[in-house]
Amino acid sequence: MPVLLRGRVLPVLADPIPRGAVVIEGGVITYVGPAARAPHLTGEVTEVDAGDGAVVPGLVDAHVHLVADGAADFAGSVLRSGTEQLAATAAANARRTLAAGTVAVRDLGAPDGIAVALGQQIAAGRAPGPEVTAAGRALTAPGGHIPYLGVEVRGAGEMADAARVELSAGAGGIKLVATGGVLTPGAALGNAPFAEAELAAAAAVARDQGRWVAAHAIGHEGTRRALRAGATSVEHGYLLDDETVELMATTGAVLVTTQVAVARMLRNRHLVDPAVVARAEEVQEVAITSLRRAARAGIPIAGATDAGTPFNPHGGVAEEAALLVADIGLTTAQALRAVTATAARCLLRPDLGHLSVGAPGHVVVTGADPLDDVTALTDVRAVVLAGRLVDTPGGTT
Ligand SMILES: [Zn+2]
Repeated sequence: MPVLLRGRVLPVLADPIPRGAVVIEGGVITYVGPAARAPHLTGEVTEVDAGDGAVVPGLVDAHVHLVADGAADFAGSVLRSGTEQLAATAAANARRTLAAGTVAVRDLGAPDGIAVALGQQIAAGRAPGPEVTAAGRALTAPGGHIPYLGVEVRGAGEMADAARVELSAGAGGIKLVATGGVLTPGAALGNAPFAEAELAAAAAVARDQGRWVAAHAIGHEGTRRALRAGATSVEHGYLLDDETVELMATTGAVLVTTQVAVARMLRNRHLVDPAVVARAEEVQEVAITSLRRAARAGIPIAGATDAGTPFNPHGGVAEEAALLVADIGLTTAQALRAVTATAARCLLRPDLGHLSVGAPGHVVVTGADPLDDVTALTDVRAVVLAGRLVDTPGGTT
């Protein structure tokens, strides 16, 4: 059945349309423009009126971990669960993500091929959820960050082989853990556990297949190595200096911010391992300076969640958009773009994250206009995925 959405339309890659309409037929957007000129639809039509709200593209989250649900003990919750239990958690997280208006995610680390398999089930229509592109297991050095979401590898040959294994198992790209991380106190943030040649060997395998290369990158040295090795996105970017930002500008890598992960964890600091809290506090202040530096330099920014980390349940990418405005100084329009079209770029999905004729019919209706107040993105009234209305908790349709 065709879907007709009416109201203030924000196409993201084109100007807002005050009294606009979006038409979806056969799961694909067939009209975006003034309501007065919308095509006449015959037969049964699903109509959605945005009222005082807005019609926006479905949101995209470029960094999630579907197997984890935000437990205080992130590592323990993954390590203690069997494959079946993790798969059930991932399926529930996917439903929650979609209900919050996120129509596509990139999973950056899961054991046992769980996120890849879930993405395939969703694509085949056997499970509800957003479109999923997944890294499979993250490639991390022995003793490095997030081994429980990855595989420990060393040496250029092993790195390239590991990349081939994940991609041939259905991964959409690879995840390189190029530095230490907040959740692994044993590995210093400044660590650069891989040589540039090791990172490059894995990245070349992915890039030669036209896939994305996400680099977990916090410290300067590891971030630079990852960029020179061919990373297509820098995850977190808490410690970017001018030289690293310049290198990002040269390579065209996208910066994927995950400020919501730090903010939510610190809001619950009394329930989190004190060593992890100390790490998060250490990065919170410097991260803002770092991300502002990148924003000023015009580096493309994708807002993401790192969902699954402590107290960071899935479906929260709208909150990241709000932090990009409040803390990093983006305009509301830039923040909307960060969680739609720019995030889609990280997924190598230029067809997602904007309302255009021929794009997939993934559309969200918000309760207010996010260009006035970006927190309107947290007030999702209706979600349409491939031209079908999805059940949403706060939905009016
Ligand atoms: Zn992550």
